[in-house]
Parts: sequence; structure tokens; C-alpha cells
Amino acid sequence: MRIARFVDQAEPTYGIVEGPADADLSELSITALQGDPFFHGIQPTGTTHRLEDVRLVAPIIPRSKIVGVGRNWADHAKELGNEVPTSPQLFLKPNTAVVGPYEPVTLPSWSDEVAFEAELAVVIGTICKDVPVSRVDDVVFGYTVANDLTARDAQRTDMQWARAKGFDGACPLGPWIEAELDVEAAGGLAVRSRVDGELRQDGTTADMVFGVREIVAAVSEAFTLLPGDVILTGTPSGAGVVDAGQRVECEVEGIGTLLTHLRR
Ligand code: ZN
Repeated sequence: MRIARFVDQAEPTYGIVEGPADADLSELSITALQGDPFFHGIQPTGTTHRLEDVRLVAPIIPRSKIVGVGRNWADHAKELGNEVPTSPQLFLKPNTAVVGPYEPVTLPSWSDEVAFEAELAVVIGTICKDVPVSRVDDVVFGYTVANDLTARDAQRTDMQWARAKGFDGACPLGPWIEAELDVEAAGGLAVRSRVDGELRQDGTTADMVFGVREIVAAVSEAFTLLPGDVILTGTPSGAGVVDAGQRVECEVEGIGTLLTHLRR
């Protein structure tokens, strides 16, 4: 089940996306839900729109935090000249970094080196702390796609990654939340990115240093997690720099494709 947030006329509304998994957007429809599914469950209204007739917005604006994991693919750690970590390396992005699918992102004036990073993102459904690996599925609402945009120059020069990873627009999320995804699927899930249509990253979650459940468990040892919090699980190799005018597509198998336009 794919849960999106959309704007029709007034306030953003949650809805269930309906149609074949690999269909064009033009073949999909969306049925509005009553209230917030994070707190009221899935209660469809009778109202259905063609997906083309509404505007999708970020499927979640975290009320408290986005937690990222650095260097979770050995190849990506190596391409940046880093060691593979022995425990998940956590950082935070503010919720003001979130933008939705198809939304333009303005590159920060103080960086000449913003890189894209396609990532599988976990959306938390339940307040929780110190979650054992075996219980992680109980606290997950679903999964979406993230682009962990990173100003590499600021990442090198600043003591903390707050600015490099946290500028406005640094966390495109979407296009929707897939509530039924087997993240431990045999062979893993493909994580890919394309810039202006050209394949740039092509990894699989099977090659992660720390698996999705291990990451959620480790993050929950550091922080109380709230419904709507988002955890980014790291990026495969090939995460390169983008410039204004380019379009980045981030794709996770079984979820969908998140499209972001960059501008100055
Ligand atoms: Zn990342």
C-alpha cells in the first residue's frame, strides 16, 4: 500500500495511491484518507482523484527529526577516502530540509559542490526507544525514498555536518510511503540514481554495512523516536556533484522514483 500526501485545493491530505506498481503516473489514482494515518489509521473517504490532477507533497514532514547514517556502503566510504565504520555513524537533518517530490531545490549560495545521495528512508510509526532488532518491524510505518543532498565542501571544512547536510531542501522525500516492503528481501533492494537520465548509482541494500533493522535499533538507542521521524540508511557508491539545471532521480526498488530539480 502506497500512502502519499497531496494538495488538491486546500490543506495537504493523505491518500492511498492505486494502480499497478510499475505504471506511469498518468495511470494512477489517489483516494483521500480521513485525518492523519499516523494517528487515525487508514480510513479512506469516498473521494478519488487522478494522480495527475493533484500535486504530491512530501509524504511526511518529521515533527522531530531526520537521522542519517554515514558511510553505510563500503564502496561509498572508499570513494570519499573514508574507513568503513565499525558502528552506525549518525547525523541529523532538520525537518526544514524536507521537500516533496518534483519540488525544486535551490542550491545554497555558499557551496559549489552539492552531491546527490539516493537512499532508502525508514518512516517511524510509533513512539519508541531501545528497540531490539527483532522488534523493529513493529515500530516502522513504512519506507520512502530520500535524496540526502550534501554540500561536500562544507562537509570537509565545518566541524559538524549541520550545514552540509541540513540546508533548506537538503532532504527531498517521496514520492510516497510504501507501507508493505520486505526490506530484508533476498538479494536486497536496488538503490539507484540518475542525473538527467544517466545512471549514476546502482547499488543494492544487500551491500549495506549495517542492515535496515540494525540501523533502526541503533538509532533508537541514541534517540527516542516519534511517529513520522525519518531514518536515512546510507548511499551506494557513485554519489556525485550536481549543478543548477540538472534533474536527479533517486529510485528504490519496490517503492518508486523521487525526482528533484536543482536551481540556483
Ligand atoms: Zn547519505
